[in-house]
Amino acid sequence: MAEQWLSQRTLTFDSSGIRKVFDLAERMERPINLSIGQPDFDVPEDAKRAAIDAIQQGKNGYSVTQGIAPLRERLQAEVAQRYGHADRGVLITSGTSGGLVLAMLALIDPGDEVIVFDPYFVMYPPLVSMVGGNVVLVDTYPDFRLPVDRVEEAITPRTKAILLNSPANPTGVVASEAEIRAIAQLAAERNIVLVSDEIYRLYCYDEPFFSPAEVNQQTLVLEGFSKTHGMTGWRVGVAHGPTALIEAMTRLQQFTFVCAPHPLQWGALAAVDIDMEATRTTYRRKRDRVLEALGERFEIASPGGAFYMFPKAPWGNGREFVDAALANELLIIPGNVFSRRDTHFRLSYAADDETLERGIEMLLRLAQQGGPRR
Ligand code: PMP
Repeated sequence: MAEQWLSQRTLTFDSSGIRKVFDLAERMERPINLSIGQPDFDVPEDAKRAAIDAIQQGKNGYSVTQGIAPLRERLQAEVAQRYGHADRGVLITSGTSGGLVLAMLALIDPGDEVIVFDPYFVMYPPLVSMVGGNVVLVDTYPDFRLPVDRVEEAITPRTKAILLNSPANPTGVVASEAEIRAIAQLAAERNIVLVSDEIYRLYCYDEPFFSPAEVNQQTLVLEGFSKTHGMTGWRVGVAHGPTALIEAMTRLQQFTFVCAPHPLQWGALAAVDIDMEATRTTYRRKRDRVLEALGERFEIASPGGAFYMFPKAPWGNGREFVDAALANELLIIPGNVFSRRDTHFRLSYAADDETLERGIEMLLRLAQQGGPRR
C-alpha cells in the first residue's frame, strides 16, 4: 500500500474543508459561488498579448533562476523608489506561494517557532510544519486587529519569524499604520524576521496600503501578480528583502521550482504598466454593497481590503451554518478551515453582481430562518 510510504509531514495537515466545497460546486447546476479566492476578471489584454508574443518568439526555455532581467530590474527600481533601502534584492518566484515555500526553507530550522495570526491563510501552518517549524498561533478574534501585546507575550528564545498578511485572507481586515509600525519595530528590536505577505496590496479601500518594510528594513516582502492582475494560473510572484536572504532563496529556487514560468514573466512585465485603479474601484463598490446588505444581520469585522469578509455565523457554529448554505447551493467556506475556532465563515465578493445579489438574498434568508434544533 502506497499509504505506508507517506511521510509524517504529509499526514499532519488536511485540506478537506475547502476541497469539499469545491467538489460540491462541480456537481451543482447553478451554484451561488462566493467561495473563490481569486479575482473574477480576466488577465488584462496587454499582458496576454505580451505572454503570447513571448511564446511565439520562442521564449519557452528556462529563464535564469532569479527571473528575466527586464522584469527584475523594473521591480528592483520600483522597490528602491518605494523604500530607498541600500540592501534590498528582488527575486521572481513561482507565485506568491513559491515565495512562501522558499522563505520557510531559507529561514526555519526544525524547532524554530513562527508566529501566525489566527485566522490565517490556509497554507501558513502546513508550510511551517513542513520545514519542521512550530506554529505559534496568536488569536485575533473578535475584530482581527493586530494584537501587538499578545505577539510580545508569544515571543520565546526560539521565535524565528512572524508571518503577517494585510490586507488579510480570510478576514479582509487591513492592519492600521500604527499596528504595522508597532509589529515592525517589535520584530526589529527582538531580532525576529518579519515576513509580510502583501499579495492583496492593491485592494485597500479605506486607507492607503502601508508596508512594514517602510519601518523595518529587514522585512521580507512577498507579493505577486495573481490577485492584482487576475493571473492566479500564471504563477508569477515577487519576493524582496535583505540580499543575503534573497540570495539564499534564489539558491533554493534553483533546486526546486527552477524559475517562474518563463513566457508568463514577459506577460507580467507588461502587467507592471497597466493601471489597475478601475479594478480597485470595482471591488470597493462590491465590498460596500455586500457590507450594506449584510451589516445589520451579521457581525462583520471591518473588511477594509482584499475581497473577503469573515462574518460570524448568525446561529450554530461555522460548520453548521455553511452546511445549511451548501444545501441551498450557496458556496462559502467554514471558518475552521482558516482557524482553530469554528464560529465564522468566509465569503469572497470577487464575483459578478448578479451572483452577489443572489448570495446576499440567500444569506439573509438563512440568517432569518435560524438553525437546526438542538
Ligand atoms: N498569500 C495569500 C494571503 C493568499 O490568499 C494567496 C492565494 N490565495 C497566496 C498567498 C498565494 O498566491 P499565489 O497564487 O500567488 O501563489
